[in-house]
Amino acid sequence: MLEEIKALDKEYYMNTFGERLPVTFTHGEGMKLYADNGDVYYDFLGGIAVNALGHSHPKFCEALKNQVDKLLHTSSLYYIENQAKLAEKLVRSSCADKAFFCNSGAEANEGAFKLAKIYFYKKGIDKYEIISLDHSFHGRTLATVAATGQPHYQAPYKPLTPGFSQIKPNDFEAVKDAVTDKTAAIMVELIQGESGVHPMDIEYARNLRQFCTDNGILLIVDEVQTGMGRTGKLFAHELYGIEPDIFTCAKALGNGVPIGAVCAKAEVAKAFEPGDHGTTFGGNPLSTAAGLAVFSAIEEENLLENADEMGKIFRKKLNGLKSEFPDEILDVRGEGLLIGIELKPEIAKSVFNGLHNRKMLTSLCKGLTIRVAPPLNITENEIDLFIKAFKATLKEDI
Ligand SMILES: *Cc1c(COP(=O)(O)O)cnc(C)c1O
Repeated sequence: MLEEIKALDKEYYMNTFGERLPVTFTHGEGMKLYADNGDVYYDFLGGIAVNALGHSHPKFCEALKNQVDKLLHTSSLYYIENQAKLAEKLVRSSCADKAFFCNSGAEANEGAFKLAKIYFYKKGIDKYEIISLDHSFHGRTLATVAATGQPHYQAPYKPLTPGFSQIKPNDFEAVKDAVTDKTAAIMVELIQGESGVHPMDIEYARNLRQFCTDNGILLIVDEVQTGMGRTGKLFAHELYGIEPDIFTCAKALGNGVPIGAVCAKAEVAKAFEPGDHGTTFGGNPLSTAAGLAVFSAIEEENLLENADEMGKIFRKKLNGLKSEFPDEILDVRGEGLLIGIELKPEIAKSVFNGLHNRKMLTSLCKGLTIRVAPPLNITENEIDLFIKAFKATLKEDI
């Protein structure tokens, strides 16, 4: 079957993903993914921080099936029960006062940019520039590419959407230098995920928050990857003890059903008035049923506590490996279950391949750092399987 799919993909699918890993999955259960040839993999990447509940979570699937049989979509011309309830959940469990739903992380960030711009527009203040950080990742749309501080994502799409610039992270002087009287917002990831799991310095984050407040600049935190319990808190900004004016979330919010959210303080959110923003699919009955089921599972199964506890155990065991292999493992970073394992550059690719061959799914960031973002209900046994595979890889494959 894999060969057939590959042939179809090569012939008909745009080649943005190049040679993918040679595997296709037919079904999953918990951490396990079953390949068409019978091989069983452990999903330590969780579909890139999406499958917070793992695969085929019984209650989640039941909630979705019930919704599929009742109602998929009605449009936002009418009131939507799940949409209203999911907005309530997000607001009651975060520092935000209002939420708006869309379909992806990039679209949530677009919504955040629009909200920041319209907030000043409605005040009659001429501020529209958005500053973000080097090595950030905010999505693949034109505006989010302009905000993504990685030249290789930007180069082919120049001229970029105007009004965006990037500065060096964790350098507070750079913030002061970059801000102008046109700066509307600063957007950050508190843990840069895509570029290799780089947590922001806590002092810098707090200084940034204070600086934005003092200077009438909105702080936007992109929680697309860090949100929904990934770091052991519902949102990473709780770990940092700061409250953004706007934050976005997506990936794990739907556990695989596409949904994103823009969340904001009341004062900012009220800038969106009827007609100012919209969406066809965003927050429809199906995707918001998924969001509600994710929230229920997080609460009923104590997944924040589990992510925190298992994250600590996972990092402790990885640090144990680092002491055993100090020349190979250069750093272990992250919070909760978003973990980066930085390797000696020469061996990173073989370690990634070794893990894959041992049926451990991860991603390799920048050819240097193994990223894991497993389901939040992971067990210590499963962590041990990973550690064992990692050790075998370091011993046998490099
Ligand atoms: C994945 C990601 C995005 C983009 O989300 P999409 O759903 O792919 O558009 C944006 N920001 C961060 C931090 C991400 O990790």
